[in-house]
Amino acid sequence: MIKANFHTHTTFCDGKNTPEEMVLAAIRLGMTALGFSSHSYSDSENYGLKPETIANYRSDILRLKEKYRDCIEILLGIEQDVTSDPLDFPYDFSIGSMHGVHKDGDVFSIDHCEEIFVQTVTQHYQGDYYAYAEDYYRQLADSVLKHDPTFIGHFDLVTKFNEGDKFFDESHPRYQEAALNALEVIAKAGKPFEINTGAVFRGCRTMPYPAPFLLKSLHEMDGKIILSSDAHSCDGLLFGYEKATELAKSCGFSTAVVLTPDGFREESL
Ligand SMILES: [Zn+2]
Ligand SMILES: [Zn+2]
Repeated sequence: MIKANFHTHTTFCDGKNTPEEMVLAAIRLGMTALGFSSHSYSDSENYGLKPETIANYRSDILRLKEKYRDCIEILLGIEQDVTSDPLDFPYDFSIGSMHGVHKDGDVFSIDHCEEIFVQTVTQHYQGDYYAYAEDYYRQLADSVLKHDPTFIGHFDLVTKFNEGDKFFDESHPRYQEAALNALEVIAKAGKPFEINTGAVFRGCRTMPYPAPFLLKSLHEMDGKIILSSDAHSCDGLLFGYEKATELAKSCGFSTAVVLTPDGFREESL
């Protein structure tokens, strides 16, 4: 099984453990690589890096990279939100993630809580969840072309509160067309997609992102995947990797990529 994770949060943003605690846990798990990805600074969100903590974040990860270089490969990355300014630092990698939809001159959180999700659609989309999803995917695809991230985080985060089609039908042509159009744009740009188990670990969902129909289409487009736990604590580091591997195989994949200092390397599932 692949034992590497490149989506890791710490006390520098909204994680529970320090970077060093995460490194020690990763070594105990026999992991080969660990990539740190604090949330980027954003005016509209308060859980990311702050201008005054960014330098400390970088230096702490670089210190650990050196200290544990004989035990594990450590990479310095960032989870780059679409609402953040373009990167001005040569991180080892960046994750392109969208946590808020721009609408009516404001930004509305997609994943903070169900209440905000419903309120946004009710007040700004006249209750039309498909119009909301269309905006989400259009803005996500645009941002990938703008920020040029290394890979894509939780592609269909817009479904976080929609398990069991609670608010909208994920087999509806309007939803599927919006999602597949963005998938194609991003896959053509050569960006791997996460299979992200983080929300399953936190008990918000029963299945990782993205949905099987998207993974099957991605495979048909010759797209790439990367396993990711979106860990916010030591006990989440490799959570759900067996399930994610099974899901990937059932959608046609036989390999996933892992990050190295020299770029992606493909590994068997
Ligand atoms: Zn995220
Ligand atoms: Zn994350």
